Amino acid sequence: MTAQLIDGKAVAKTIEAEVVAAIASLGIAPGLVAVRVGNDPASEVYVRSKAKKARELGLRGDELILPESTSEAELLAHIDRLNHDDAVDGILVQLPLPPQIDAKKVIDAIDPSKDVDGFHPINVGKLHLGRPTLAPCTPAGVIRLIESTGAAIAGSNAVVIGRSDIVGKPMAALLLQRNATVTIAHSRTRDLPSVVRGADIVVAAVGKPLLVTRGMVKPGAVVIDVGMNRLATSDADIVAHDEEKSRLLAKNGTVLVGDVDFARVREVAGWITPVPGGVGPMTIAMLMRNAVTAAQWRRR
Ligand code: NAD
Repeated sequence: MTAQLIDGKAVAKTIEAEVVAAIASLGIAPGLVAVRVGNDPASEVYVRSKAKKARELGLRGDELILPESTSEAELLAHIDRLNHDDAVDGILVQLPLPPQIDAKKVIDAIDPSKDVDGFHPINVGKLHLGRPTLAPCTPAGVIRLIESTGAAIAGSNAVVIGRSDIVGKPMAALLLQRNATVTIAHSRTRDLPSVVRGADIVVAAVGKPLLVTRGMVKPGAVVIDVGMNRLATSDADIVAHDEEKSRLLAKNGTVLVGDVDFARVREVAGWITPVPGGVGPMTIAMLMRNAVTAAQWRRR
């Protein structure tokens, strides 16, 4: 059996259509401000693409770009101004921040009703209580991917590998809310293969290339790969068995792989996400969804 592919780009398009429809019925363009401090190249790309996607879908998407030398007090003053600006429905601060700024203080300073990343402790608390809230975008996107397969979440055994505040923990909370029996595995888990083998749904969010191997996956399982690992030619051994990834690595000198050994796991899984083209496209789509939800809640 070969697994069916979960097409993240296609599911993201359906979310984007929902966003466009919700904006039309709202009658105003929600305002989203993406804040970046400094010139981290990855952050530049992320912030630019978030603001661009917002404008494409009919939101007002702005970037606030501050110098690397910005102090914590200066950034907090900007957040305070955005919190009090009625035209702003959503605020996100791109991480990581320069070392002189405590990210926790910044997250705590964002008005929870505008916290489109869902990282504020009030929103995290609501998520764990199962109350309506702005949920973190990547795990919320994973739920939509699982739902797109038609596989039942309620009653399933779900194993989340990774316990970060951004992916693993909120992922477990969202699956629990949908009545899965949830196990969180992490760096100190003993015998990861036997834990994963019991899973009907596996979500890998670790950042270790091809950690999840074929022998770890129950036949027919839904396998969602959040990991994004860039390999160089010196890592060629890792993907030697994967013709497609090896070809891309030889051609480009670098290749993006997930935490799941896609080439082999797809031979046993029921459903699987590719990397790229799986979870990645969902994150920005869910951010737009959260910005519109924030606008709907703030304006009702
Ligand atoms: P993180 O480094 O904060 O957390 C990694 C987690 O993996 C930790 O909780 C750790 O306990 C666990 N872990 C480490 N080694 C392990 C092992 N051998 N076995 C089991 N668990 C182990 O990472 P993160 O921010 O949660 O991101 C995880 C991955 O997801 C990264 O590759 C990141 O790039 C990717 N990511 C992708 C998106 C997306 O939009 N596609 C979004 C966020 C993160």
